[in-house]
Amino acid sequence: MDRLKFLHTLALLPLAGAAMKLQQLEKMLSPKNSTDKMPVLFLGHGSPMNAIEENEFVAGFRKTATKLPTPSAILCISAHWETKGTFVTAMENPKTIHDFGGFPKALFDVQYPAPGSPELAAETKKIVQKTEIGLDHHWGLDHGAWSVIKHLYPKADVPVIQLSLDHTKPPQYHYELAKELSALRCKGVLIVGSGNMVHNLRMVAWDKLNVAGFGFDWAMEASEKMKQMILDGNHLGLTNYVNLGKAFQLAIPTPEHFLPLIYTLALQDRNDTICLFNDKAVGGSLTMTSVLIE
Ligand code: ZN
Repeated sequence: MDRLKFLHTLALLPLAGAAMKLQQLEKMLSPKNSTDKMPVLFLGHGSPMNAIEENEFVAGFRKTATKLPTPSAILCISAHWETKGTFVTAMENPKTIHDFGGFPKALFDVQYPAPGSPELAAETKKIVQKTEIGLDHHWGLDHGAWSVIKHLYPKADVPVIQLSLDHTKPPQYHYELAKELSALRCKGVLIVGSGNMVHNLRMVAWDKLNVAGFGFDWAMEASEKMKQMILDGNHLGLTNYVNLGKAFQLAIPTPEHFLPLIYTLALQDRNDTICLFNDKAVGGSLTMTSVLIE
């Protein structure tokens, strides 16, 4: 029912239900999702080819999207935007960045023309106290963002901004910064971390890329321990991953693909439920395991 029709109907109803009607009216006139908390996602993005291939992982992204309320905007923390200091993209129309090489032309042809949201960028800058967030006008959407968000919202009709990863800071810093983003969940903003929990490109078993679910022993060991810690809510343990032994050292040789998970977990509230999906290894040294917090 549109707003005008609703008001018209309201006028025709008897006075007895006035209080209830007023409540309904208030709810209707308030911004969408202003009181409902949005879910939070961590998406294992894997190969950029997932942007254009049809496989179980993109099917998993699509299926998850059907469970989500339509967001007013998306804030994405991608493994592929590392900076000194923290920035948010603040342009009206972020460009699609093809930040990779050696892939087919069809992948370079992909455009994801979702609008930006200078308003959300300003709001993010305002609510974060931990650091001074810079407004960026040069980046855009890197493949960590668009290769997965395009499966959630193929029409590119939800505004997207990115928040960069300050590569000079330790995991605990990112965890605390992420907690400050929590107010955005109540403003209809879908926060998406995009990386991979286990991500060691130097050790990819290229000859086993087509062996479904193949993971090296160390990759599976780290993956199992990570999942258990996620389900146990052991966030402190995960932010201290450098002290978790050999399997973790191999699984997280550099922090950028793991840190987006830290952002997602930091946004988990006590009453949220958490579930894992796309929980499979690829090429021995990479896992696609993704997280939905709602
Ligand atoms: Zn990546």
